[in-house]
Amino acid sequence: MSDPAPGQMSRPSLPRKRVLVVNCYFDYSREPIRRPTKFPQAVGPIYLAGACSRELCEVRCYDEVSSGPLTSASLLDWPDMLVLTGLTHCFDRMLHLTAYAHTRNPKVIVVAGGPAVRALPRLSKRFFDYSCLGDIEELRAVISDAWGAAYAAELMMPRYDLGYWIKLVSHVESTRNCNFHCSFCSLTGESRAYQTYDLEHIRQQILSAGKRRKLLFVDNNFYGNDRGHFHQRIDLIKELRAAGRFRNWAALVTNDFFSRQENLTLAKESGCELLFSGVESFDSNWLRTFNKLQNTSTPQVEMISRCLNAGIIFCYGLMLDIGTRTIADVRRELEFITATPEITLPAFITLSIPILGTPYFYECLKDQIILPDTKLRDMDGITIVQKTLDPIAEAVEFVRGLDQLRGLRSRVIKHSLRFFNLYRSKLNLLQLGIGFEQGLLLAAPTLMTSTTALGWMKKARTRTYVSTTEHLDASYAPAFRVDSRFQSYFQPTMVTDKTGNLANELVNSGLLETPRLNRRAVAMA
Ligand code: SF4
Repeated sequence: MSDPAPGQMSRPSLPRKRVLVVNCYFDYSREPIRRPTKFPQAVGPIYLAGACSRELCEVRCYDEVSSGPLTSASLLDWPDMLVLTGLTHCFDRMLHLTAYAHTRNPKVIVVAGGPAVRALPRLSKRFFDYSCLGDIEELRAVISDAWGAAYAAELMMPRYDLGYWIKLVSHVESTRNCNFHCSFCSLTGESRAYQTYDLEHIRQQILSAGKRRKLLFVDNNFYGNDRGHFHQRIDLIKELRAAGRFRNWAALVTNDFFSRQENLTLAKESGCELLFSGVESFDSNWLRTFNKLQNTSTPQVEMISRCLNAGIIFCYGLMLDIGTRTIADVRRELEFITATPEITLPAFITLSIPILGTPYFYECLKDQIILPDTKLRDMDGITIVQKTLDPIAEAVEFVRGLDQLRGLRSRVIKHSLRFFNLYRSKLNLLQLGIGFEQGLLLAAPTLMTSTTALGWMKKARTRTYVSTTEHLDASYAPAFRVDSRFQSYFQPTMVTDKTGNLANELVNSGLLETPRLNRRAVAMA
């Protein structure tokens, strides 16, 4: 037998570790629906998976949006480390998976991160072995602490090979956070500075995403406030597109992007096919109230039609605030949109949500307008969680109808036909299809994004749509036996108590203690 090479002698062989990364999710239907076509798709798990050493860790990812609730006992038995992420309203789902994993394997290390964990640091500490309050890179430090530095990746690159749910479009991030401060946005609550990635890192991401026809920049704000870096990224896009890495790209930008025609020209010339921007409302006064001032400088119809006329399809979301606006007023806005074929229809509609830790949340709390017995899970954008200007019964009827765009369907169809006639020479077939699909998404959102929805649609009629009385998802009942120590993990996290004040568990959660929020907490006292 020959002697081992010198390098091999000095390094003892380390056992491989198993890591499962899960994107936790509660569907807005409150049913165990799979939404494999929901777009954009979750990238958190594949970025987090990149923190593990490829040599010493076997990593799997699971996305509850596209695959439905994770209830596979064998998969929950499998990992040495379970890494959980998800949107704020999905915090309880992280608790469910923690209970399952710890019941089946008491030695498993559970790591949780995301906006809810950052907003509730002290509460999170009670449930998870590690609560990550920083950026995704913190997972490397967690792995080093738990198993030693050899188990953490030296350079974090997203594991596109594990993102089984991402099929047609490469998802890449070129910047982080946002340079604006809308009062309802979780990024504002977290006060994180806008950052640009090193160009070489962006290049490596695009190359490792593989050759796909479409590339999506999932940045919160692809444009940002660093014009030089924006130009450099456009040059990089041109170079890699010319090399055949992708044919077209799309991005999320803020409204100020559209105030310069030159930006649209640069985007179009480099292969941009779609831009998403948060319009939220066509009411300038409402936008000012929520500090979304960047949306008030250019008239929005003009902005959207300028984008469409440049040959780029424009997508946006709409936020309906029935806490400060009457239903009649909101309806007028919807009628205005559906009567204006110069603009696209919104890709989605949400109610305004007082996301934990945002300035808007503290205002709602101070004004005592969050409904009694509101659960964190209710903050999903389709459940009424605040007092409404109109009587609550009318608000419920409105929201129930909104889910299926009741009363507006024929207007949506007419709009789509007129939109097609206006832009058929400016947009390609795919872009026109997206414009048309947005109408369908509005008219039948569940059917358009789910392959398993039909059986559940009738149940929507039994919903109350009000946080105080709305039933919990089926997944709050354990899918299999959990240790009695973890049964409380299936109790919903309450935001308010019976009187509408902050629930006790949130008073001691760390929510009011994070330095960035002290000013508001003091103002409230
Ligand atoms: S522009 Fe968008 S990402 Fe930026 S703070 Fe406002 S809502 Fe958040």
